Amino acid sequence: MSTSDMFLKSVNKSAQCPFCGKLFDYIMYPEIHIPGDSKLKKKVLNKTLFFPKCPYCKEEIKLRASCMYCNENKKEMFIVTDSTDTELETMMKSGDIHFNDVLTDDAVAFMKGLYIRRVVHDVDAFREKILLSDNNYDDRIIELLKYSLSGLIARESHMPVYRIFLEETSGDQLKFTAIMGNHSPFEYMSIRSAAKVYTQYKNKYLDKLGRAEEDEYISTDQKWAARSGLLNDEDAGFVIPL
Ligand SMILES: [Zn+2]
Repeated sequence: MSTSDMFLKSVNKSAQCPFCGKLFDYIMYPEIHIPGDSKLKKKVLNKTLFFPKCPYCKEEIKLRASCMYCNENKKEMFIVTDSTDTELETMMKSGDIHFNDVLTDDAVAFMKGLYIRRVVHDVDAFREKILLSDNNYDDRIIELLKYSLSGLIARESHMPVYRIFLEETSGDQLKFTAIMGNHSPFEYMSIRSAAKVYTQYKNKYLDKLGRAEEDEYISTDQKWAARSGLLNDEDAGFVIPL
């Protein structure tokens, strides 16, 4: 039995469409392993995996998913969980990973300090981690950049930023989506930034950060960016040309 056969490849689930109320089935993949599952990775990146279309009303639905992405080549493990408790983070810190109650033989390899380990709580953030990895961006620098962007667009639009994430990278542009407002219905805003701003941030902040594999970065998100205090001394963040 090969290693990949040990993993539960797909599970059938059913969901109730929030738009028309009908029940429909979809397929969920609880684990994505690279190398091997590059097709699944592509489905995350092109938004076909966690965003099924309701077969009845054709509306696109964003799932609350649980999935582990493990890239053996780059020594990265990203987990998206709809649970907000900190049990997973504790497991990741100890290196003793149980996912969907399956203890994999590879668990020993997930040891502390060897893998870049991240826990996120929504599929947009999960997709963003994989997108950043594919483009060799440091997610901590991107969180700092997003934190600055959030401050700017909140001031300009007089609306709070609910969430912000990288949508795509093309050429010399980074395209972010900001979800604006305090509650639904949210407004979606698209923001572009020159890729060289990433380089400026990296040059300025990377040597202030530790190794990306350390425990303190398991929850690298906007709360982490705020907590890091790195942008505190900046006037309106580090100036970004919008
Ligand atoms: Zn529907």
